[in-house]
Amino acid sequence: MSIVAIVGRPNVGKSTLFNRLVQRREAIVDSVSGVTRDRHYGKSDWNGKEFSVIDTGGYIKGSDDIFEAEIRKQVELALDEADIIVFVVDVEQGITPMDNEVAKLLRKEKKPLFIAVNKVDNAMRDADAVEFYNLGLGEYFTISSINGSGTGELLDAIAKEIPEEEENVEEELPRFAVVGRPNAGKSSFINALIGKDRNIVTNIAGTTRDSIDTKYNRFGFDFNLVDTAGIRKKSKVKEDLEFYSVMRAVRAIEHCDVAVLVIDATREFEGQDEKIFWLAEKNKKGIVILVNKWDLIEKETNTMRDYEAKIRRQIAPFTDVPIIFISALTKQRLLKAIETAVEVFENRKRKIQTSKLNETMLEIIQNFPPPAIKGKFVKIKYCMQLPTHTPQFAFFANLPQYVRDPYRRYLENQMREIYDFNGVPIVIYFRQK
Ligand code: GDP
Ligand code: GDP
Repeated sequence: MSIVAIVGRPNVGKSTLFNRLVQRREAIVDSVSGVTRDRHYGKSDWNGKEFSVIDTGGYIKGSDDIFEAEIRKQVELALDEADIIVFVVDVEQGITPMDNEVAKLLRKEKKPLFIAVNKVDNAMRDADAVEFYNLGLGEYFTISSINGSGTGELLDAIAKEIPEEEENVEEELPRFAVVGRPNAGKSSFINALIGKDRNIVTNIAGTTRDSIDTKYNRFGFDFNLVDTAGIRKKSKVKEDLEFYSVMRAVRAIEHCDVAVLVIDATREFEGQDEKIFWLAEKNKKGIVILVNKWDLIEKETNTMRDYEAKIRRQIAPFTDVPIIFISALTKQRLLKAIETAVEVFENRKRKIQTSKLNETMLEIIQNFPPPAIKGKFVKIKYCMQLPTHTPQFAFFANLPQYVRDPYRRYLENQMREIYDFNGVPIVIYFRQK
């Protein structure tokens, strides 16, 4: 999926534009601890093209020097990670020296670049925008992020730069993305799995420009590993490394069927692990958790059980996920890891026949119907699996708006007990009938 980065100096309206682009969609905030700067990642679509948007963030309020260093970093990040750049400037302020600095950095770039002259809230300000030709970056769009005017034209232009997603239907091999924070042991795991065979496999160009699927066979299973473009620019700054690794995970997850989340047994399952987990869940991808470096853990009778229980508490309510304890070093349970990932892939494709589904679920519903709300009784009459790539179900009811989340979760859990959806996020809708 293409990534659109919004850059520009503080207060020009980047976050306002970001919020408009991602609308009600969920945004992921990448708060870097110790730094008063958030990066926002969200999804948007326009004219049938889906894309990711990053707002590279707010700033420490400080001197102009700090700003300049920050801006430079932000633009470099954007140039590294994004496919399309939107450079936001502010018509109220006109061109500032910092805008010129950013323009200088952007002028060298080959990536599609759009200049958005923001805060053009009315036609009178259109005339003021003309000065932005002096940035030397060519055409610009006049927009008002606050009232939305002009943003449609900007989005039209952005959408034109986004390639059509190729339908990849014939490709039946599972696509696994090995994700996790730095040093969890992702490369060690892949090396242990693939070893020197890495050289003899074929690379198949992926559906997006920056990811490559590589086909492997291990333990009798055929699968593709999704590989995202490497970090192109080495950064010495820790927060940026973390940001890069999150962005890589974002790309890899969007492109895979099953996210293989590698965590480091010697560390807590914490912020970044959780972030990647929820990213996979939100994208409705299959998930397997591999607790790596298990060789380093001192084991007593219940060590594994307790460790597993702790992770499950952290990933609640989506706890129906396989957790496997491995060691990339001693090659412990690698077969189990791959076998499970393949199972999750199969589970994600599972289709339940409508008649069977109704037979089972309507009986469950009859025995434990949704609670009446404000004296109104909800009657669920029929259900079906939707013809989607991932398991999604519609339950038709007289008063779908009265079905509350706990009941939805109850039905989900029942379905999980009856059908094997281990590792797979499922979606349940209630619809009017
Ligand atoms: P950022 O620092 O670049 O992310 O800027 P923000 O999105 O936080 O916006 C900075 C200020 O400009 C806020 O007070 C916004 O309400 C305001 N602003 C953003 N877009 C517009 C716009 O299109 N028109 C006007 N008049 N104000 C805007
Ligand atoms: P990545 O950044 O997630 O790709 O992590 P690496 O594969 O580079 O591993 C980070 C470090 O952890 C390296 O020093 C590895 O040797 C070490 N490591 C990886 N897996 C294991 C394991 O299963 N057991 C032990 N003891 N060390 C491991």
